[in-house]
Amino acid sequence: MGLGPTKRIGDWLEAGQQTTGFARLDSEGFPAFEPGWVWLVGAGPGAPGLMSLLCYHALQTCDVVVYDALVNPDILRWVKVGAELEYAGKRGGKPSPTQKDITHRLIDLARAGKRVLRLKGGDPFMFGRGGEECQHLALAAVPFRIVPGITSGIGGLAYAGMPATHRDTNHSVIFLTGHDATGSMPANVNWAAIAKASPVIVMYMALKHLGEISAALMAGGRDGDDPVTIVSNASMPHQQAAQTTLAEAGAFIAAQDPPTPAIIVVGRAADWRNLLDWYKGPLRENPIG
Ligand code: SAH
Repeated sequence: MGLGPTKRIGDWLEAGQQTTGFARLDSEGFPAFEPGWVWLVGAGPGAPGLMSLLCYHALQTCDVVVYDALVNPDILRWVKVGAELEYAGKRGGKPSPTQKDITHRLIDLARAGKRVLRLKGGDPFMFGRGGEECQHLALAAVPFRIVPGITSGIGGLAYAGMPATHRDTNHSVIFLTGHDATGSMPANVNWAAIAKASPVIVMYMALKHLGEISAALMAGGRDGDDPVTIVSNASMPHQQAAQTTLAEAGAFIAAQDPPTPAIIVVGRAADWRNLLDWYKGPLRENPIG
């Protein structure tokens, strides 16, 4: 039995209108990427197929892309021919550009009349310093648009068969960073409150301090048997997921040295992996996702 009345796609198309393929999107009236604007865009966690249509449109209409290390290079193959690519991440040995350098560069490019695509991994406002960049654009009166992306803390879980929420087990979820601006374990986080607040805790940039973080969560009353899942290179063919417990997590990281980038999930969302771990075998052969 169907869930409602059935309509057929195409019934309302005019004669000759394209009904299939990406070309169909060209007539849809996407917002114009105007010269002098910066679009701050999330590319998603890795798999190119997880980008939004607005992200794709921006790749196709920009003059310059300023991209981060976490952006999958496969995504850059879809940039318009002739556009410039500028890398804003760490470059072999040399110090990475500071946040200030990047912000200045965005402002300069926009003032030079370019359509500037600032491309970030995941979602630009999830631990990506997108807020800081936007703040400076706003203060410099550079017009901008924000295009959200699928954050690794949600998309990465989906690719590892872990629903971030589930009516039976995961009533809420917390996202936090394992790093503060100085690179230390964040001091201004109430670990005891976090430990008790939510069945699922999703941590970004937390591999380095996982031992300390786990200790703080256990000191706050979190069970040492709670599962910890480490998902590396989420949504990419070389995705890897490792399983440990809160009590063992520090030693596990020291011994196994899981690949980065990695998202860390504390909680029983891991149990769903037995049933829902779908990204396997031939499904991994397609680099689009
Ligand atoms: N804005 C990004 C996060 C930037 S912070 C987002 O929304 O996803 C960088 C951290 O993101 C990494 O240290 C890692 O914890 C996580 N991350 C980003 N991409 C990832 C991926 N493909 N797999 C696993 N973790 C990822």
